[in-house]
Amino acid sequence: MFFGGDYNPEQWPEQSWPDDVARMREAGVNLVTVGVFSWALLEPAEGRYEFGWLDRILDLLADGGIGVDLATATASPPPWLSVAYPDSLPVDADGHRLWPGSRQAYCPSSPRYRTASVRLARTLAERYGGHRALRMWHVGNEYGCHVPRCYCDVSAEAFRTWLRERYDLAALNETWGTRFWSQEYTSFDQVLPPRRTPAFSNPTQVLDFARFSSAELLDCYRGERDVLRELTPDVPVTTNFMAGMHWEMDYWAWAAEVDLVSNDHYIRVHDPHGHVNLAFSADVTRGLAGGEPWLLMEHSTSAVNWQPRNVPKTPGQMRRNSLTHVARGSEGALFFQWRASKAGAEKYHSALLPHAGTDSRIWREVVELGSDLGKLAEVTGSVVSSTVAIVLSWESVWAQERPSQPSADMTATDELAAWHAALWRLGITVDFVAPGADISGYRVVMLPSLYLLSGVDRDVLARYVESGGTLVVGAYSGVVDERDHIVLDGYPGALREVLGVRMEEFVPLLDGQTITLSDGSAGRVWREFGRVTTAEVIAAYADGEDAWSRWLAGHPAITRNTRGDGTAWYVSTRLDPPSLERLLGRITGEAGVAGSGVPLELVRRSHADGRTYLFAINHDEEGAVPLDVAGVDLLTGADFPGEVPPGGVVVIKVVTP
Ligand SMILES: [Zn+2]
Repeated sequence: MFFGGDYNPEQWPEQSWPDDVARMREAGVNLVTVGVFSWALLEPAEGRYEFGWLDRILDLLADGGIGVDLATATASPPPWLSVAYPDSLPVDADGHRLWPGSRQAYCPSSPRYRTASVRLARTLAERYGGHRALRMWHVGNEYGCHVPRCYCDVSAEAFRTWLRERYDLAALNETWGTRFWSQEYTSFDQVLPPRRTPAFSNPTQVLDFARFSSAELLDCYRGERDVLRELTPDVPVTTNFMAGMHWEMDYWAWAAEVDLVSNDHYIRVHDPHGHVNLAFSADVTRGLAGGEPWLLMEHSTSAVNWQPRNVPKTPGQMRRNSLTHVARGSEGALFFQWRASKAGAEKYHSALLPHAGTDSRIWREVVELGSDLGKLAEVTGSVVSSTVAIVLSWESVWAQERPSQPSADMTATDELAAWHAALWRLGITVDFVAPGADISGYRVVMLPSLYLLSGVDRDVLARYVESGGTLVVGAYSGVVDERDHIVLDGYPGALREVLGVRMEEFVPLLDGQTITLSDGSAGRVWREFGRVTTAEVIAAYADGEDAWSRWLAGHPAITRNTRGDGTAWYVSTRLDPPSLERLLGRITGEAGVAGSGVPLELVRRSHADGRTYLFAINHDEEGAVPLDVAGVDLLTGADFPGEVPPGGVVVIKVVTP
């Protein structure tokens, strides 16, 4: 199990480095990410490199038996680059150029940035490709976190080139629906990024620009990765995603380009269900890894610095957080960062070694966690398996979460998290899959919110149902095709037949309004007016607060359609959490998927040879919870059946009868 984090030795006097390495060994650290923000030190002037300090720290780390995830240092260009090449700085949708002085101040399409970053990656690979500390390459950092899209003239030209590769002018006009609002283009030269406009921008232009922008940053990554692969073909290459936290990169495309999927996750302290969001992020990341193990590249030992109020983690919370990531497939737990900075923008971000030093709660918990992870070596390489999947599409999120929709409250990311959370409460582990993926092995497949759906991906879902699967579709799914054009003749166009319903109108609820269904469920945000064609009505609209409630009463709200050997459910409103949990519990139960039945977060990892580890996380910091599973806790050696202590975690090596 990897344990460690970002190590920025350049922030500290060199005479303290041996102490750092000694403390890392004391804590059980075995992997550190070095150099993420070191460009200005490594290349103080264009083409002039100063590697002495990096040579010395890599040697020290290697002597201490600590592996290095070596960064290409290209996430934050140095001041000289933006002075020499001001057009390498990004421009926002208002046409304002962003200034240097923080990080990620580069235009993804800038030839100056790309040339300089690939040159630095090549120089690092030539110098350190054979270093005995090197375990993996870390390209960039959190691509798209601050500047996912650039609207400058250089990016505009790159966008036109990207469009020309996909469309001729007639196809562009047709796809973007430019007949409306007099937007017909007569030359590609007239096409721009969706800069700030007087009214709503063209939605398909915005969608294509989001696709282009994700691909453009991916090209930056690929440029560096290709030279690393050329020079060090045996060293894995990764870049850290922010799955479930930032939504601007199409991580399905990105995941195909890394040797090891890695992810960063940070708890939002104002969210009482932050640990459920953690599970969401970890499950999405496992989906990106195709079910294979992945690596938690960053999380925090305690408080962060970027929220309005940064409350520290409670004693024991870090351990629960870290081991939950491991439960859900991570091959370890890495943090930002090794030692808390005394200066700079992130000096209030917690670290493994806090400002208070080693005589501190955080340090003692870090040492314990290192010891725990050391006991889980045999878990590495095992995988989490599930019989339930959620279909997730970044493109669909981009198309849906923009202005000029029937309801601004009808966001996709909230609903994806809400369905995942309902399954989490039921104790059902869920995988995330891409539209069009092979879903034939799942008992239940869910589309909480999949607004944009291509005909090809629709056919995969239809075949899944016909051959015996259970499909559950949330409202406002399958409404538009990949061009963001409405599928006509009744909603939800693409899924109308498989669901056996035909909806005519969307009837959003106003802020705070709720409705009641005939089965007692409560809905909010959204309703639909229509009828069933071949489906049966499971629950009808019953009661509400506005005039529409009377007209909708008795009309279908939740339906079930039998098609071929399978079943397709439709939920045409947004259920409140208890109603959603009840419905999904019923559907999964009927499909033979059992929940855990205990108030613990339970996740299993298994090896192909059958060895199985049950992670049990108790989020109740006051009461122990009994667990009736036979085995031994790898962390304490305690025999089970037994109790999971308050706020505790056990990892039971399960005895198979
Ligand atoms: Zn640009």
